Amino acid sequence: MALGILVALLALEFVLRLVLEIRERRATQMHGGVFALLRLVPLLNDIVPLPESRRDVPASAFVEAHERAHRELRHGILRNLLKVILLCFAVGFLLFLLVRCEMPWWCAVLYLHLAAIPFRLFFHWYCWGQEYEADGRAFKSLGKKAAKDAMRELAVSEIFYTPLFALFYREHPTAALRSQKLLNH
Ligand SMILES: [Zn+2]
Repeated sequence: MALGILVALLALEFVLRLVLEIRERRATQMHGGVFALLRLVPLLNDIVPLPESRRDVPASAFVEAHERAHRELRHGILRNLLKVILLCFAVGFLLFLLVRCEMPWWCAVLYLHLAAIPFRLFFHWYCWGQEYEADGRAFKSLGKKAAKDAMRELAVSEIFYTPLFALFYREHPTAALRSQKLLNH
């Protein structure tokens, strides 16, 4: 029974990730390469890296102000704290499956992989909020011109991903989302 549900959920995950990947290829007109295939494989897709930039974002007053805002707002600590909380949940869930449900370990690990997907999206959404907040502070201290220039630089340096795809795989919002947030409020 538990195995049947597991197989069905993994198949569903595979199909949804495939749809996401095809949608992304169409929207960006870029090949995903071997990573795109690896992202379809359960468990492997938890560790496949996502290339984020074509080149380093050049240093600027805006980038410095953004990083300073991260430090002042204690974003790193908060992010790590959330990671620890989520990790505790994961360990608890794993133990529950292994001890209470007496599941074989590979079955429990795959269930954990599936259960972690919405939490991962939540974590990315939380990180995005921090980025917007740091951008907002930098904007306040340096003004619209500096923000606009920085966002343009970022857009050129960054590999383009759609927002939905980025929510699944990135801890940073896309340059397009960041400019929208910054310049349209
Ligand atoms: Zn940042």
